[in-house]
Parts: sequence; C-alpha cells; structure tokens
Amino acid sequence: MATTADVIVVGAGVQGASLAFHLALRGARVVVLERGTVAAGATGRSSGFVRMHYDLESEVRLAAVSHPYFLNWLGHVGAGDCEFVRTGFVQIVPEALEPALRANVAMQQRVGVDTRLIAPSDLEALMPGIRADDFTVAAYEPASGYADPSGTAGGFIAAARAHGAQFVGGCSVQSVTVETNRVTGVSTSRGEFSAPVVVDAAGAWSATLAATVGVEVPLEPWRHETAYFGLPDGRSARFPIVIDTPNDVYFRPEGRDLMLVGLEVASEIGGSPDRPERAIGQSVVELMASRVCERVPWMAGGTYRTGHDGQDGITPDERPVLGPAGPDGFFLACGFSGTGFKTAPGVGLAMSEWILDGRPTTVDITPYGLERFAEGRHLVGEHPYGTFWR
Ligand SMILES: Cc1cc2nc3c(=O)[nH]c(=O)nc-3n(C[C@H](O)[C@H](O)[C@H](O)COP(=O)(O)OP(=O)(O)OC[C@H]3O[C@@H](n4cnc5c(N)ncnc54)[C@H](O)[C@@H]3O)c2cc1C
Repeated sequence: MATTADVIVVGAGVQGASLAFHLALRGARVVVLERGTVAAGATGRSSGFVRMHYDLESEVRLAAVSHPYFLNWLGHVGAGDCEFVRTGFVQIVPEALEPALRANVAMQQRVGVDTRLIAPSDLEALMPGIRADDFTVAAYEPASGYADPSGTAGGFIAAARAHGAQFVGGCSVQSVTVETNRVTGVSTSRGEFSAPVVVDAAGAWSATLAATVGVEVPLEPWRHETAYFGLPDGRSARFPIVIDTPNDVYFRPEGRDLMLVGLEVASEIGGSPDRPERAIGQSVVELMASRVCERVPWMAGGTYRTGHDGQDGITPDERPVLGPAGPDGFFLACGFSGTGFKTAPGVGLAMSEWILDGRPTTVDITPYGLERFAEGRHLVGEHPYGTFWR
C-alpha cells in the first residue's frame, strides 16, 4: 500500500487525535496510523481531570486554551462528545507551599483562568465532612471538572475524518523513512505510507519510534494505577475533583456513587513499554484507601470496586516534548508525563500551527523542544511545587 498524505500522525491517543483534527480542519491531508484502536494507550486509562492549575505559565496557557473545547465540545469540534462533567477543582498544598500556591493563582488569574483562593471553611461547604484543618488556603476553579478521555479522542478522530483525514487502525509503524535527511514516510505492518511530515505521537512508545531516525528522546514509561471505590450509603457524588498534595492523592466523583482515586506516589518509572499490564496490588489499594481517608474520613465506609494500570511516557522534567527534531519533517508530540489529557486540544492546535505555518502562535510551545535536555534547560515552574510523581 502506498498512501500519500501531507502529514502522517503516528498514534491515535488524545494527542494524535487532536492534532489530526486541527490539521484536517486547516485542509491538510492527514493519515493517522494506530497499531491498536483509538485511545488504546494512556488515553483509555486516563483519569480525565480537566483543570488549569499548573506552576508553569505556558502549561496554564495550554490548559486554558483547551478548556473551552471541553465546555462546548460540539461547538469547537463538531463530532462525538467528550462527556465533560463540571464539578469544580480544588488544589490543596502543604503549608510550606502556600506562598507558591498564592503566586500561581495570581499568575493563572493574569492568564485569564477563573480561579481563586478559598478558605478551609469554603472547602467544607463544597464537600461536607472533608478534613480541612491542615491548610489555610486552597486554590479553587469553579468551571473545571472531568471528561471521558476515550470519548474525547474518538470525537477528535470522527471530526478529523469528517474533514477528510484517514484513520488506519491495526497498523503498527515500524520505522520512519528518510532520504537525504528528509522524511519521506513510514514503513508499517500494513505497508509503506508516504508523506513529507511524520509526527511521533506514540505515547510511551515514542522513543522507540524516534530512534528509527536516530533521535534520542529521554522518555521512560511511567506506570500509574487508579481505582474506583463505592461511596458509603447516604454520601453524594456531588463533590469537586481534588488534588491533595499533602497526602499525595487525587480523587474525583465517577457517576452517581463512585470515587476514582489515584496516587502521586508509587508510580513505576522505567522498563519496557511492551511489558504486560499488571493487576492492581492489594498494597496499592490499601495505600489509596488510607490516603483518601486522611482527607475524607467518611470514605472509611467506602468499598473497593475495581482498579487498573495505565502508562504514559515521562521525561526528566515531567513536561512534554514538542516540535521538530532530527531529519526535516520529523516532529515529536510525546512525553506528556501523566498530565497530557486536559491540554490535548491546545497542544494539537499549537502543533498544527508549527507544522503548517512554521511556528506556533496560539501558545508559544517552542520551549518544549527536545534540545532543552541537551542544553540543560529543564522546564520548571516560576513558583515550583517540585516533581509531581514520586
Ligand atoms: C492512569 C492514568 C491517569 C491519567 N490521568 C490524567 C488526568 O486526570 N488528566 C490529564 O490531563 N492527564 C492524565 N493522564 C495522562 C494522559 O492520559 C496522557 O498524557 C495522554 O493520554 C497522552 O496521550 P497520547 O496521545 O500522547 O498517548 P497515548 O494515549 O498513549 O497514545 C499513543 C498511541 O500510540 C499508539 N502507538 C504506539 N506505538 C505505535 C506504533 N509504532 N505504530 C502505531 N501506533 C502506535 C498506541 O497504541 C497508543 O494508542 C493519565 C495517564 C494515566 C496512564
């Protein structure tokens, strides 16, 4: 098979899907090659948090540009549904990080994010029975919430196809082909595809693909488990999504009677992205339960339902790698380090500008280039909280 396109996107996670949509919307002929199905990787396991609280301004901007897509999916994308649920978002930090929290909320407000500082009593009003005696202020975003990551990726792919893109599932890209330092296409399990631009959006597998053109990406697989707990009788699922940094745990409602829980500790970094998924361990479930109960004591009456594992690519500064690298026409959009769902609409838009116009304009994502690692220019927040995943 020889298919000619303007751009080949490798990977139909939320990032590849968003990029394909934005490129096709602009009239580019796009082919998306996915070795499994849409959202087969990190995206299908994502917790789906949609919030704008970061300590790095450019990441806040990417999340802020993305937020309207979740609020009005059909208006922006025109196909499918991201199933956004507006719950509000709360960030709690340890007392030592309070000055950073205040500075970050002020920065986010300058960017235009609807965010504010709230007192412990405000949090108790948002979630009755929550423990609020170990901090003095938290950050609150009333318009944030969570969405369905598989639905989001599927919606982007459906809309990309409506604008002429081709999606090929069950197609494993084996290598990127190059002639005289210019990309010519890819070799796959389903034959050759030709295009002058290839984008590596292969998630935890991105470094393997990049290596086929001699590009070394400092990316390791990052494995993260999440679990669903049934709420005790009489407790409502009407509570905000919460990142509770003092207890290294996050949680959100799921449906009418569940809570989804994840840990900021106990992720596994390294190994092969192809090793089998592992069943969630008893010790992890117990750690999740104890951390959640520290913050929400009434969850002691909750019940464990199910849990699963997922993996993303993580970089040394826990920020994505975006932009051209190696031979002309080769682009990276990978290394989202466990936080790349909520920013996908904005990243896809900015990447489409970089590819089609020669530079990103909606948000300046040029600092996310691969060269930052060799140059020792790690991306660090202006008022940093430190590394997220421990
Ligand atoms: C458990 C978990 C919870 C998370 N929670 C959140 C959250 O709450 N909020 C948030 O913002 N982020 C969250 N994240 C992170 C977020 O989900 C990811 O950053 C995002 O989904 C990455 O999307 P992607 O498209 O880059 O990668 P992926 O979704 O991994 O997609 C890559 C795709 O490439 C395909 N592929 C790989 N190699 C090849 C090849 N050679 N040929 C063809 N196809 C190939 C794979 O099959 C896969 O479908 C979470 C991640 C995990 C694992």
